[in-house]
Amino acid sequence: MSHTHTDDERAQEINRLLASEGDAVRENATLLNRQRYDAIDEFPAYDEYRSRAREIKEAAIADLPDLLERVTEAVEENGGSVYLAEDAADANAYVESVAADRDAESVVKSKSMTTEELELNDHLEAAGLEVWETDLGEFVLQVAEETPSHIVGPAMHKSEAEIARLFNAHFDLEEPLETAQELTRFARDFLGERIREADVGVTGANFVLAESGTIVLVTNEGNARKSAVTPDVHVAVAGVEKLLPTVAELEPFVQLIARAATGQSIAQYVTMLSPPTESPTLDFEADELGAGEREFHLVLLDNGRFDMREDEELRETLYCIRCGACSNACANFQSVGGHAFGGETYSGGIATGWEAGVHGYDSAAAFNDLCTGCTRCVNACPVEIDIPWINTVVRDRLNRGADPDAFDHLVDGLSPDAEEPGLPLEKRFFGNFETAARLGSTTAPVSNWLASAGPVRTLLERVVGIDRRRELPTFARESFGSWFERRGGSRIDPGDATREAIVYPDTYTNYLSPERGKATVRTLERLGVHVRVPPLGESGRAPLSQGMVETARERARAVYAGLAEHVDAGRDVVVIEPSDHALFCREYDRLLVEESARRLRESTYDVMEYVYGLLENGADSHALTAGDGREIAYHGHCQARTLGTDQYAVAVLERLGYDVRESDVECCGMAGSFGYKRAYYELSMDVGQPLAESFEGEATILASGTSCGDQLESLLGRGSRHPIEEIAPP
Ligand code: SF4
Repeated sequence: MSHTHTDDERAQEINRLLASEGDAVRENATLLNRQRYDAIDEFPAYDEYRSRAREIKEAAIADLPDLLERVTEAVEENGGSVYLAEDAADANAYVESVAADRDAESVVKSKSMTTEELELNDHLEAAGLEVWETDLGEFVLQVAEETPSHIVGPAMHKSEAEIARLFNAHFDLEEPLETAQELTRFARDFLGERIREADVGVTGANFVLAESGTIVLVTNEGNARKSAVTPDVHVAVAGVEKLLPTVAELEPFVQLIARAATGQSIAQYVTMLSPPTESPTLDFEADELGAGEREFHLVLLDNGRFDMREDEELRETLYCIRCGACSNACANFQSVGGHAFGGETYSGGIATGWEAGVHGYDSAAAFNDLCTGCTRCVNACPVEIDIPWINTVVRDRLNRGADPDAFDHLVDGLSPDAEEPGLPLEKRFFGNFETAARLGSTTAPVSNWLASAGPVRTLLERVVGIDRRRELPTFARESFGSWFERRGGSRIDPGDATREAIVYPDTYTNYLSPERGKATVRTLERLGVHVRVPPLGESGRAPLSQGMVETARERARAVYAGLAEHVDAGRDVVVIEPSDHALFCREYDRLLVEESARRLRESTYDVMEYVYGLLENGADSHALTAGDGREIAYHGHCQARTLGTDQYAVAVLERLGYDVRESDVECCGMAGSFGYKRAYYELSMDVGQPLAESFEGEATILASGTSCGDQLESLLGRGSRHPIEEIAPP
């Protein structure tokens, strides 16, 4: 999908892929996720290794010029050559010249996304060479004439039956192939022949060790090592970011890569070659050892990587070890796969960074919107890359490159943001949602009546892209802040209080769901807390989710300015909306100066976390509503799950005697403003389907996120409440 496609075209393409590839992708990604969760559970040192891997990558990218020098020396000393290719054309021309020097006729390749980036096969074929992919998935795609849809499982979008149909139609077979075993055996025999005949073997490299010139290949099929050593000539093609200093730095990656990619403790084959090896060449025709010389070329590719290294925001993309875990963890990816969630080469969460870096922003634009910022990929990444932040930065840069928009005047005055003219109207509307919510609340019930009127829905759909099938939230006549003021503040005197807390009046609590704010005040007061609700503005979450980073930074600074005196006074900050709490804890690190972000993070609590802490510290749980064994279905918010704070709601509910069942799906499907957008309505509903199925027939449903609750209402036809409303005293 290109950047210039309309919403309708985008929706059509997504729907086509949902129908054709979605089932196979979901099945395969779900299996890989389950295996990954198990592998990580069985590996207690996982986080320690992740941090170590991150440190090593940071250092290696910082030392890249030095590592390049060292690897060149080492490979040349071994008798091979190193070529630093500036771009795809340069790399392709070099590989072609290697083949031409040997009068090669055929090439076998093992799976390598870097060679996909170069479109090396097309180039070599155009030069008259026969090229065969030897990885089973890549072979399937070569036969099908398709591109990979996942960086580790390239044919993940294909079912076994489809592959059988493909092979039976394409090859002249005596008996049709049916089972996975038959298909694999056929491919192995067929490709074994091609490997024996090949003049040149091309591999990628998972890692390249600078000290020794060692190429590390991590595979499950063993085809990479065969492709590397069976032909007389081996060409390894790798991005410059694959360099590590020595074998000592390799260990954490070997521990992590297979666990993250496929949930194995180690891959079937971890091959370390320091080519050219001294073993004799092979002559299969004569059935004897050949008399030829072995030849080795290491092609290290720049193609934008050195520029990425200089880019503060994109740099961490280079730490990626291409395990694909971020794709598997992504709910949108699970539904629609990499052919929608990818650019020219790369797919999935981290693809935005790769595509922006190696192919340019237009290639990243095609799918950048599909990242909902849910952060489910953050803990999945074995190198601790903040993938959602990279997506946000790219979104911001795309916004800034947008053409001036003729509709800008429509939102003049409704968009008090720090963005330049030309920002798409849809983003401007969602990014400034607080303004609309404040206005809607002030003018309710007229605004609610208007919002449900057909002509207004048509206009909203046309101008700001809100799908007309979506139920719109109802604005409250009295905001949470006004209610608290009218009530006369807290009922607990500071002198009698165990603690003092600020309840942050987020946009949703303030203007749409003041009931949960009131429930919070009642709960905290019953537990002995003096409560304040100061007039604070929007947190910055809404603009950030639209890639409006400067606006988000302004909002973050204003919120911090309003909270600083309370933090100084030792008051706790209690946040009801999980996406705002996650913002305070995670993204404020990127938006505020380090010290401010730290101080706020250390004083801030998710509301259920806070209640849990009060109860743990002796507050009387009898002051709250008892569960008496009542069954509750609880869906934890995705960002709270990343932080681990969703568990506090479960702990409190269980302590109060509720019988809690949790959802284990990756996402509700709504993911903030995402599900409201016309282009993504079907995808959002598809992502939400597993949640609906798992909660079908449940009596009471609790969800802490506003958008999760909205989506549950759409999927199940009935509402949900925030856990605080369930446990609050009357
Ligand atoms: S960003 Fe992290 S999770 Fe995603 S492919 Fe790279 S290393 Fe794996």
